[in-house]
Amino acid sequence: MLRIIFGGTFNPLHWGHIRPALALADELSAQAIHLMPSAIPPHRDTPSVSAEQRLQMVTLACELDSRLQAEDWELQQNRHSYTAITLAELKQKYPQDTLVFALGMDAFNALDSWHQWQQLVDHAHLVVMRRGDTERQLKPVLSAFVAARELELSALQQQPAGGIYFAQTPLVDISATDIRQRINNSDSWTHMVPPAIADYINQQQLYR
Ligand code: ATP
Repeated sequence: MLRIIFGGTFNPLHWGHIRPALALADELSAQAIHLMPSAIPPHRDTPSVSAEQRLQMVTLACELDSRLQAEDWELQQNRHSYTAITLAELKQKYPQDTLVFALGMDAFNALDSWHQWQQLVDHAHLVVMRRGDTERQLKPVLSAFVAARELELSALQQQPAGGIYFAQTPLVDISATDIRQRINNSDSWTHMVPPAIADYINQQQLYR
């Protein structure tokens, strides 16, 4: 079975995460989408929003579709998390399954700054979701990385790991930064997240 691992700070999780991830699961015929909040280093943490609250928002979103599940692996580790290491650990947990690590185009274009980034494909495929105007304008170092590994969908589905695929996911122009600013400025924002997450943010008075 094919599992999508989708990591992020999810501060908060929004439709720009959920809609492309569900479309990706359709496109790849994936049976599970693990929404995996990352531990935020203390100096980058948003005041007043805890890891538990970010995880709770992810858990609320899982009611939307049976393929969605909250993955607390990185939050459970008592250390800084690196995606390449997490993927190796998740592969041990699901040895029979094909893992796909999903990320937006903006994140992919900064991949060479990630710890052990060339090892990200050792235990999973990398699948890139469309975002903003960053369509396929890759840095040379990443172009070379892609050139050696880009696969058609059918090949991706047949290999256990090591491929890169650019998906046809819908463009959804939402960012968590924009949501946090809108809440802080009392601008409209509730349409950018599922209703249950909007209710939770209001109830917990987050981002104010
Ligand atoms: P922030 O504005 O706080 O940086 P963000 O909205 O970019 O947050 P993250 O949690 O940092 O969200 O992103 C996690 C992952 O989701 C990244 O791979 C990112 O590229 C992807 N992503 C976020 N928003 C979108 C979007 N609107 N469309 C496609 N991918 C997205």
